[in-house]
Amino acid sequence: MDPLYVQVHARDNVAILVNPEGLPAGARFPDGLTLTERIPQSHKVALRDFDQGDPVIRYGQIIGHATRSFRAGSWVREDLLDLPSAPSLDELQLSTAVPAPLPKIDGYTFDGFRNSGGAVGTKNILGITTTVQCVAPTVDYAVRRIRAEILPRFPGVDDVVAITHTYGCGVAIDAPGAAIPIRTLRHIGAHPNLGDAPLVVSLGCEKLQPARLFPDGGFPILESDPYLIRLQNETLHGFGDMIAAIMRAAEKRLEQLSRRRRTACPASDLVVGLQCGGSDAFSGVTCNPAVGYAADLLVRAGATVMFSEVTEVRDAVHLLTPRAINEDVARDLIREMKWYDDYLARGSADRSANPTPGNKRGGLSNVVEKALGSVAKAGSTALMAVASQGERVTAKGLVFAATPASDFVCGTQQLASMNMHVFTTGEGTPYGLAMVPVIKVSSRTALAERWPDLIDLDAGRIATGQASIADIGWELFRSILDIASGRRKTWADHWGLHNALAPFNPGPVT
Ligand code: CA
Repeated sequence: MDPLYVQVHARDNVAILVNPEGLPAGARFPDGLTLTERIPQSHKVALRDFDQGDPVIRYGQIIGHATRSFRAGSWVREDLLDLPSAPSLDELQLSTAVPAPLPKIDGYTFDGFRNSGGAVGTKNILGITTTVQCVAPTVDYAVRRIRAEILPRFPGVDDVVAITHTYGCGVAIDAPGAAIPIRTLRHIGAHPNLGDAPLVVSLGCEKLQPARLFPDGGFPILESDPYLIRLQNETLHGFGDMIAAIMRAAEKRLEQLSRRRRTACPASDLVVGLQCGGSDAFSGVTCNPAVGYAADLLVRAGATVMFSEVTEVRDAVHLLTPRAINEDVARDLIREMKWYDDYLARGSADRSANPTPGNKRGGLSNVVEKALGSVAKAGSTALMAVASQGERVTAKGLVFAATPASDFVCGTQQLASMNMHVFTTGEGTPYGLAMVPVIKVSSRTALAERWPDLIDLDAGRIATGQASIADIGWELFRSILDIASGRRKTWADHWGLHNALAPFNPGPVT
């Protein structure tokens, strides 16, 4: 292909190189710009000469200042720009540029499992909740037996999932931070894909007692509950009894779950969690804007769309607080940024700890550039609500649900609310979750071609001009409805790639 770069915003003085193999020194673009050195794909090229201290602008925003002078056509690497300080949380515009609502779109439905409480499932799963890591291998063993011996008799049930995790004991359970993993696990145990039908396995002596995991309301757990199995219970003699008790309860639950039927549900019953992982410099040009377009479509259809990852929003917060529907929502967003600033400071870190070696190899110089590309996922609508770490989202429209940026931690925490997951990636990851479908969208065609059996949608076609952001956005929107209906499977579900749950515990371990 001919030399090609992508300039996102008219003000930008750097652009992203598109050619898959990169380009050598001397390569000349149609506008006459000539490379002074070799530049790899997805890295930045200087569109003009820079003096030391000049702002480097991408997405129309300053991503850093030149640490020395360099010429047009140079490779703008990480060491050529300094990291600007994060936007001050005290001087933000609150709800000053609320976007007007986009026209509603009606008539889009998916076939979901409606629960008695009103929430809608996209899968029909028996989930076995655990209160503590000690019981995890026992539950894993029981799940293997249930899958082999009982599940085949219930073809209407998609899977049996052990909801195991590393929390539950050896932790300061009354410390303020403990509320976060506990409410995350509570909401996961009550997930709509589990059909309002929890089955809980407890050890007996752990700190996270079943009644603490599920207090009054939701699922009051009684000691006499046939769906609560305590391994230390005196009536259970040995491992054989434990497994038999879990399998008996599982069979009863499977009978109930097998009566669930998919019915047509409006798209407004979707709660879609957005995330990125292994991002590159294309992510903010191709997959994230396409996901943002789909996010706008979902909002227009009345659904809930959650974006997350505090450290990837922190440097773009000045673009988001003006979009908040009111000043209270803007202040809620600032509160979550402040909480995370303090959390990082306690660990002697700051948001510059976010970018990974892979991000940098993919052309992202620093967290500012990463954040500006990341928030493109949030589309263009008003920010309707903010949820704290681990809280369940109830609002419709675009919502910020605070989470860490780590893929598996963010995914675990988004499970507190979402029934569908969209994940964008540049470097690639085989990531998946057992409880909800994970649709993986690639930033580059080269990745989609190298991983045709892992990537569900290729947004790289946007960079080469083969598809528009709107084309890919609509394609993703329709894929979400198909996959939520069980008509199509994601590659992660096809292969059974299901990452372990990793609840975020900012509290002390004892
Ligand atoms: Ca992530």
